[in-house]
Amino acid sequence: MEEELRPRGGTASNREINRRRQLYADIGDFLFAHDLDLTPVNFSVALDYLTGANIGVEKAIKAVMMERGKITNGWIESIAAEQRADEVTPESLATMLDKVEENLTHFTGLMHESRNSAKDYGAALQEQAKDLGEGRDNEPVLARLVGLTRSMVEKTRQVETQLRDNQRQTKALKSSLENARRAAEHDHLTGLPNRRAFEGVLGEEMQQAIANGEALSVAFCDIDHFKLINDTHGHDTGDRVLKFVAGLLSKASNDRCHVARHGGEEFVMLFRGKSAAEACEAVDSVREDLANRSLVNRTNGERMERVSFSAGVANVLIYEDPRAALKAADRALYLAKEHGRNRVYLAAEVD
Ligand code: GH3
Ligand code: MG
Ligand code: MG
Repeated sequence: MEEELRPRGGTASNREINRRRQLYADIGDFLFAHDLDLTPVNFSVALDYLTGANIGVEKAIKAVMMERGKITNGWIESIAAEQRADEVTPESLATMLDKVEENLTHFTGLMHESRNSAKDYGAALQEQAKDLGEGRDNEPVLARLVGLTRSMVEKTRQVETQLRDNQRQTKALKSSLENARRAAEHDHLTGLPNRRAFEGVLGEEMQQAIANGEALSVAFCDIDHFKLINDTHGHDTGDRVLKFVAGLLSKASNDRCHVARHGGEEFVMLFRGKSAAEACEAVDSVREDLANRSLVNRTNGERMERVSFSAGVANVLIYEDPRAALKAADRALYLAKEHGRNRVYLAAEVD
């Protein structure tokens, strides 16, 4: 089909030019039809979609067009971010680190080379200057000096260009590494820090709390009968419920309260400066808030059954290490489930 649109009888390169022209036009039409800004991200997503170069992008765009008919700048940003996060694998991280190392070695080499050529230049200058004398014909020596200076200037220019390239590459790598670090420590779906990031924070906070004589408590929250929500309303609705609960917990968070997705339908909260009883109260008010809401399933407009979570809270400082404190909160959570769910229990302080 596309073949027939091309002018006949053109040379191979003519055909290539026409194909590219058509692609530019298609990208333009696509961006215009969706009212999208002319940004590099939008351009590359349109390119991926129109050429079918990225199946993930193509599928996501088709799905959103079916659902809403149109895509937006914000939506493209979010799928581009997801794509970036998907690209982060241990292998890609290792490759990036290798590149940084390679750039550094190259940089050191360039500096070394530049220093050496400056030294050589200095020595050659001195050598030639010795031959400059009063009343002598200095013309040939001067010509050599000019030649030497020119070649030094040229070398400096080359090194400068290479340094600039090196700097540009290093900057791009730095931002890729920052994105990779963010992706490695954040949960995709909810945007909350993930378990791995939380464990790091918990360890640090425990040490600080001990050093400052401050209280520190941890809560383990788990959505009740979440499997049933998935089974009844589908996985997508389940995902939306997860995001909603994550949002409610985030609202309770501040610089003294840290929230993370521990995995699946489980969240953890860390309360700096709060005793376990105070933390229990704080978690309970989020629990109550959620349990009193009646959520509507956006896909069919139907009201959903109540969504609730159960939680267990422990005083971190009476345990030997962060892991033991989390375990205690998890045990309290188990009891909260056993005793009927939709409740927050305090871990027993005698073990
Ligand atoms: P309980 O009240 O005892 O906690 O029951 P539950 O159904 O919540 O617990 P269970 O561990 O049996 O099921 C948890 C379910 O959570 C199973 C799993 O498929 C689902 N789940 C885990 N991660 C996700 C996710 O990212 N999205 C969705 N939609 N479901 C998820
Ligand atoms: Mg669970
Ligand atoms: Mg559960």
